[in-house]
Amino acid sequence: MDPAAQANKDLPTVVIVGRPNVGKSTLFNAILGQRRSIVGDEPGITRDRIAGTAEYNRRKFELIDTGGIIPDDNQLIPSQILKQARVALENAAWVVFVVDGRSELSSADLDLARMLRQLNKRVAVAVNKIDVPKREVLAAEFFRLGFPDVFPISAEHHGGIDTLLDHVTAEFPAGEPRAESVETARSIRVAIIGRPNVGKSTLLNAILGQERAIVSPIAGTTRDSVDESISIDGRDYTFVDTAGIRRKGKTKLMAEKLSVFMARRSIRMAHVAVLLIEAEEGPVALDATIGGYAHEEGRALIVAVNKWDLIPEKKRKDYERAIRDQFKFLEYAPILFLSAKNKTGVRRLLATIADCFASYEKRVSTGELNRFVETLTFEPDRRILYITQPSVRPPTFVLFMDKVRKLHFSTERFLINRLRERFGFQGTPIVLKVKSRHS
Ligand code: GDP
Repeated sequence: MDPAAQANKDLPTVVIVGRPNVGKSTLFNAILGQRRSIVGDEPGITRDRIAGTAEYNRRKFELIDTGGIIPDDNQLIPSQILKQARVALENAAWVVFVVDGRSELSSADLDLARMLRQLNKRVAVAVNKIDVPKREVLAAEFFRLGFPDVFPISAEHHGGIDTLLDHVTAEFPAGEPRAESVETARSIRVAIIGRPNVGKSTLLNAILGQERAIVSPIAGTTRDSVDESISIDGRDYTFVDTAGIRRKGKTKLMAEKLSVFMARRSIRMAHVAVLLIEAEEGPVALDATIGGYAHEEGRALIVAVNKWDLIPEKKRKDYERAIRDQFKFLEYAPILFLSAKNKTGVRRLLATIADCFASYEKRVSTGELNRFVETLTFEPDRRILYITQPSVRPPTFVLFMDKVRKLHFSTERFLINRLRERFGFQGTPIVLKVKSRHS
């Protein structure tokens, strides 16, 4: 069976290659998901499909599993693998080169890599069977294959596949959005947090009361929580645990405890946290405590100063300074001023939530990152071998260094600041991990 003949000619093609038993078919099936089907059961013909139309983020592409055309034979040499997959590879927009993350690179892997390079195709390396959390560590060795785009995945458990597809399909044309209900749409999940009486309920009402907003309450992720979704300016926002925001404690102490508890709970359900503070009192210790949870949980964060209608505009700089002082660890959070009561600054807040969410899931390609670190000078006797961003939400970078020694705290800050300057990660924490070749 000729996979290329089977492929839909109008779509870009992604071809999965790799030695036998590295998990090509599992990856193929994981990407196709429900659409997988069996095409024939005559003896001698592989039962599983070897080509199928996949869709990711509204981008359609043809996916070919060369595992279906290559006999499962560990003795097979790389040139035979490539010969059999030739037709498919010639038409490929992208090649996904699967290797086994549980074993060392074999000479067959290296040979295959060398031959793939000669094809001048775009190649992403998928390091499969990385099921444990410390994925990025294990993926380091696979840069030896000579392709900058290395993605740790677990085809079986569906780990890391989205990141791989984000990258591979980035330039494929996107189709028309499907009509989706608000409930199932890709929505930014927002937690409004803050101590009692700062105006959380008022803000929520101001947002949900926006003109043209479509409000729909839906059951939240914990039993007694309710999420409410709106669609504004083409974006969908889900405010998590709105019942919790509206709940009031009976005594001051109880209300304060409740506000801390609610913040911790809703932050975990959200992508972006909005820490609401009160203009009249200014930032206080409890605000910092509550904001600290968002930081610890690695969520995007915005500090919003409410009741700004009560304060003369010229005080803005003083407030900014006081907030930066009180929340030293949150220097990435934008500060906004608003009046929930008068509904001023609310649109701006929503736009900022969307911006921070974009930073929160922003991905920089390995190529771009490595060109960027080449321009940096820091500790004179240290060298960055490569840098990669294995995950988003929040953006997480892994530096592979030449020496085992930990990076100095100030160097770490320096690198994070340069990353922010260069790539703009407003409103999101950045995680930096340092690995060395010998660790
Ligand atoms: P929550 O406990 O954080 O949910 O706070 P509420 O939304 O219940 O608000 C507490 C009090 O602050 C209420 O009396 C509100 O009317 C008042 N409030 C809320 N937002 C504003 C605002 O922007 N300006 C002024 N002046 N008062 C506000």
